[in-house]
Amino acid sequence: MPELPEVETVLRGLAAHALGRRIAAVEIRHAGVIIGSADEFAATVTGGLIRRLDRKGKALAIELARQNGGPPRFLLLRLGMTGQFVVARRDAPLLPHTHVLLSLDDGADELRYRDTRRFGRLRCCTADELEAIFGRLGPDAQQIDEAQFLAALKNRRGAIKSWLMNQQFLSGLGNIYADEALFLARVHPLTPAGRLVSDAARRLYRAVRKVLDHAVALQGTSFRDYIDIEGRPGNFLPRLRVYQRTGEPCRRCRRPIRRLIVAGRSTHYCPRCQPRRVAVMRGPR
Ligand SMILES: [Zn+2]
Repeated sequence: MPELPEVETVLRGLAAHALGRRIAAVEIRHAGVIIGSADEFAATVTGGLIRRLDRKGKALAIELARQNGGPPRFLLLRLGMTGQFVVARRDAPLLPHTHVLLSLDDGADELRYRDTRRFGRLRCCTADELEAIFGRLGPDAQQIDEAQFLAALKNRRGAIKSWLMNQQFLSGLGNIYADEALFLARVHPLTPAGRLVSDAARRLYRAVRKVLDHAVALQGTSFRDYIDIEGRPGNFLPRLRVYQRTGEPCRRCRRPIRRLIVAGRSTHYCPRCQPRRVAVMRGPR
């Protein structure tokens, strides 16, 4: 499932291939991936000039300058589980599950949205609507500073794994990078977020930044569906230390990686490198 590094890679691909180009025509083959009226979406996006790209967490916004000189509109893209956004020549064969085609300039190239499981969504919105949508997301995990991160953890009772994945607290992490960051920081995934001692919280902050920067540099992680805008998979998979490595030896201590379920999600960790610290209750006797 695409997380911050994969979405950032798509954004960089769009910057290289689509920035400054005009969306000449829109073809919607499956209206279920569009939020709101598909006709209105097509009418608003058609003719838009791709002027700027923005991202918060896993949400990608394409600013469209309009031909009529009216206020810009924003094409908001969420890749969901299996969404792919690629640039292709118009005569390239159309793969199954291609739901939206945005043809560029003279129509020789197009952006194609493909999504086998159809959890991803495209939406056209105004600047105010975009601000409200971004406003509901917590700070971007690549932008947040340490003080903000530490403050956001305070008094949170849930497991740190769930906290890391809750987009209202911190936007951008999903299952892969949450597990990887917890391993790097040597924090057990079930530790209550608000109980992390300050050393561990700081280690976790640095681990989040480090794992995201590293994954962005390697164009993200591909298991099955994720590809970049030119159709290439990411290169981070061999660098994973715990995610989907249940039973394999820890790269640090050789103990087998274990799996448990936290808030309904598979969680991978090393029992030796990420020990669960039992809080000692001290009360009056
Ligand atoms: Zn280990």
